[in-house]
Amino acid sequence: MPNITHAKVSVLSGYGKKAPAAILLEYGSKRILLDAGGSLQSGDAMGWTFPPGLDAIIISHDHVDHARGLEQLDYPVPVYATAPVLALLPNHLSLHTLPIKGDVTLEGIPFTIGQAGHSLGGIWIHADIGGGIFYSGDYSLESSLFAFDPPPPAALALIDASYGLYDEPLAHTKDALLSLLERPEPVLLPVPPTGRALEIANWLWEQGRDDWSLGPDCLTPEQALALPHGCLKAEVLASLQAMPHSSYQPNAHIIISGDPDGLGGEVARLLKEEPDRTVIYTGYLPRKAKLDVSAGKAHSLRWNVHPRKQDLKWMVDHLQCTQCLPLFHPINNIQEWASCIGPSLITQTHLRICA
Ligand SMILES: [Zn+2]
Repeated sequence: MPNITHAKVSVLSGYGKKAPAAILLEYGSKRILLDAGGSLQSGDAMGWTFPPGLDAIIISHDHVDHARGLEQLDYPVPVYATAPVLALLPNHLSLHTLPIKGDVTLEGIPFTIGQAGHSLGGIWIHADIGGGIFYSGDYSLESSLFAFDPPPPAALALIDASYGLYDEPLAHTKDALLSLLERPEPVLLPVPPTGRALEIANWLWEQGRDDWSLGPDCLTPEQALALPHGCLKAEVLASLQAMPHSSYQPNAHIIISGDPDGLGGEVARLLKEEPDRTVIYTGYLPRKAKLDVSAGKAHSLRWNVHPRKQDLKWMVDHLQCTQCLPLFHPINNIQEWASCIGPSLITQTHLRICA
């Protein structure tokens, strides 16, 4: 394997705000796109265009802001993702399977891949170029369900900073959620069906509650247990086996279901037909959800699925990076960000790697 010392990295989209992810990695004549994010608000433009002549696209996970841009891909390119993610991508594409962790060579570039602790089959990507180029995709160190594999060292790190410098632990949200669940009204939790849905259900089960039901579109305990070995944390397997494996119960006191934005799926039906349910959003708030929360018609409690300030710091220390570009959040106060990231903080989106 040749020792690759020169490359170019261009963040086409994803820097400076919560925006679709698209990062171009160029080595010699090879062009590899990391993620192909679509708009977070349905109907909005994705805000970037596919570069010509791509040799491969690697998708970190299936969330719209990382994968929905594939719907607009208008020439044939091999698309690589892990098996659980491929199953959720448009099947007219030329799809190729990545392992959930380990080493793989694509277009002559050696990559290491590992679980990102964020979603079903979601990965981080490390290219063995120069001192290492690391792209986190979306990651979390707090998931009780999805495994996180520590990545190898990298000189350049492009990391998920979707929560900015927010530093509240998930435990605080769990406490607040338990208080809301004390109320007599039935509850609706709109969630990404393959993301935190099962994690929340499993946590409720571990709290001794069995008055919940997972929506018809959600990853079930059986489906989770059938995933490739290593996708889930070993500690959660026994609890998943013990959970009730019943089908969707539309009359359950607590319903955990998609869509997370409240616009589609079983959630849209329940919002319309059962307006008395207490609605608790736990993730990113698109327009409708934001309006409902500010009008007092819904609650918002952040169930962490992205890194907190201390997790950003952990990642920078762990990678020993000399350049770190935080993604997916405005970088307004450089001093504040530098106090977290340290001297490796950069704000350039087009970088030349010369080891
Ligand atoms: Zn995500």
